[in-house]
Amino acid sequence: MYILVVNAGSSSLKYQLFDMDTQEVAAKGNCDRIGIDGKLTHTAAGKDKIQKDISMPTHSQAVSVLIDTLTDKEYGCISSMSEISAVGHRIVHGGPWLIKSVRVDDEVLADLEKCRDLAPLHTVPHLLGIKGCMEVMPETPQVLVMDTAFHQTMPPEAYTYPIPHELAEKYKIRRYGFHGTSHRYVSGKAIEYLGNPNAKIVTCHLGNGSSISAVDGGKCVDTSMGFTPLEGVIMGSRCGAVDPAIIPFLMEKENIPVSEMGNWMNKKCGFLGVSGVSSDLREIEAAINEGNERATLAFNVLAYQIKKYIGSYTAAMNGLDCIVFTAGIGENNSDIRRLALENMSFYGIELDEEKNRQRDVVEISTENSRVKVLVIPTNEELVIASDTMKIVSES
Ligand code: AMP
Repeated sequence: MYILVVNAGSSSLKYQLFDMDTQEVAAKGNCDRIGIDGKLTHTAAGKDKIQKDISMPTHSQAVSVLIDTLTDKEYGCISSMSEISAVGHRIVHGGPWLIKSVRVDDEVLADLEKCRDLAPLHTVPHLLGIKGCMEVMPETPQVLVMDTAFHQTMPPEAYTYPIPHELAEKYKIRRYGFHGTSHRYVSGKAIEYLGNPNAKIVTCHLGNGSSISAVDGGKCVDTSMGFTPLEGVIMGSRCGAVDPAIIPFLMEKENIPVSEMGNWMNKKCGFLGVSGVSSDLREIEAAINEGNERATLAFNVLAYQIKKYIGSYTAAMNGLDCIVFTAGIGENNSDIRRLALENMSFYGIELDEEKNRQRDVVEISTENSRVKVLVIPTNEELVIASDTMKIVSES
């Protein structure tokens, strides 16, 4: 059984085709520069990567290109579109309406339309991607898997912002949380590894966007991202949590209009803003090695904020069994893991510095550490494919 996983952005459509018998990726790629000129990157398992300039004026045409490529005799891996049993779509924001993975019908599409208001930059391209797939593959079931879904188990005291209740209700303002598919995957793997379904876990998804979650017995009880993916720890170019008064203060002083402020908070802050070097932590580290103090500060801010979240989530869960690091930074940057967990013996956290520096080691805490520290590569696409398969098999 093949499941196609699609992640549609404004000018790109990333895809992975899963062979669900083996849970392996049969092919993956990206239809990029949609509506501009069109560029396809594609790799089928065991075959060479191909790159082609190919016209893709719309998302629908991008879907046609990807189906033609998957079924191509030379580059593809399946003989016909009918071999794809279903398509799973990554959805960033499901709002209060789409709270678990669901098969697409008119009602579900209407619910996703409502999310436009909450997350226009993501929802509009998602709708284009879904409609493109429905046009090109009208007989194939489509399933939505929301990044916000895993966080739906948070209690009201964790998801409520202290603003007037009527306004929160009217505009659906609450903490939603993001990267839920990743937090769900790595916490599930940690539970399996520990053999303890009741484990209290802090999952640190640290990438270009970063979020930290508290997972108690497999259920999310708090998470650092909020109404939007801006809240929480310092990110590549996103500010994370700041005193809200800073925003109107700067708008007034620097004469920044509302229309530009979103871009400012998302693109000009974080590592980039603090260091003035880059939003990429590898470049920040290179600058640190050259003695750049602002780069060092950006790095230290992230490590300190991770430490604070671990402390507060341990309090929220009344205990801690495990910390998981995942995503680009979490999986690859041993320095951030070391710095974030330094001087936390009070919490029963003891990092094995040697194991921490090695690659492909899952457990990086010492044998005596009461809290296990794990590095688990995330696999959001596999979760989307698995949910999609489950939903179409049940319906
Ligand atoms: P992501 O959004 O998960 O792709 O993560 C992007 C971030 O991870 C960037 O800040 C990169 O510097 C960092 N990153 C990705 N790969 C590596 C690597 N192999 N070594 C160190 N940092 C990495």
